[in-house]
Amino acid sequence: MKRVAIIGAGCSGLAAIKCCLDEGIEPVCFERENDIGGLWNYCDNPKIGKGSVYRSCVINTSKEMMAFSDFPPPAEFPTFMPHKYVLKYFRLYAENFGLLKYIKFKTSVSEVVPSDDYQATGRWRVTSSCEDGDPETQTFDGVLICTGHHTYPYLPKFQGLENFTGKSMHSHSYRDNRELDGKRVLVVGKFFIVLRRAHGGKNSYTFVENLV
Ligand SMILES: Cc1cc2nc3c(=O)[nH]c(=O)nc-3n(C[C@H](O)[C@H](O)[C@H](O)COP(=O)(O)OP(=O)(O)OC[C@H]3O[C@@H](n4cnc5c(N)ncnc54)[C@H](O)[C@@H]3O)c2cc1C
Repeated sequence: MKRVAIIGAGCSGLAAIKCCLDEGIEPVCFERENDIGGLWNYCDNPKIGKGSVYRSCVINTSKEMMAFSDFPPPAEFPTFMPHKYVLKYFRLYAENFGLLKYIKFKTSVSEVVPSDDYQATGRWRVTSSCEDGDPETQTFDGVLICTGHHTYPYLPKFQGLENFTGKSMHSHSYRDNRELDGKRVLVVGKFFIVLRRAHGGKNSYTFVENLV
């Protein structure tokens, strides 16, 4: 049986495990956190290297639009789910298809390189370490990278920002309105996340886009 390494147990990693099982492939999923869900696994203290949602985050795609095609969200869940429901939905999906036993939690992948016989076999050597453990290298027939695309914040350099005496932050570390309450806020980048945050609180927002 072919073995495939899956890096990350967010929704992409979970779907990848399920697809491997459907195809008769043995999945081994490495997840550096202690739970599934990726960025929907909300934490009060944002970490660099893990995508993050803010406290009041509600999906902007309806549950019908974002559903796994073989496992719709429960009827009683709200159409636009707050992040806790999204995580609950992913947990139900993982439990329903028995995916959790294929996940090695608290295990980080540090290297993926072609195996010595790569030209003949197309295999990969994957090095991972669990917490407090020594690195371990295994060979796999394939690798699925499901590490997310909001993992590392990108903060462009703006001329003069070093002279600004107020607070400047990336949206990755934003948690809730309270930290900005009563302040005038300049928002750079008109991504939907920014627009969703511009409600509530006694704030005045100015949006600027196409700067970077
Ligand atoms: C604030 C915000 C709101 C969003 N709202 C929506 C929405 O409403 N609708 C929508 O469809 N999408 C939304 N998205 C997009 C979001 O990217 C997807 O919903 C989805 O969560 C991406 O899942 P993923 O599995 O690809 O990545 P992630 O959820 O980021 O999961 C990646 C996983 O990989 C793990 N990992 C990373 N590196 C390693 C490593 N080296 N070794 C082991 N494990 C590793 C991480 O710990 C993490 O668990 C939003 C994104 C953000 C940031």
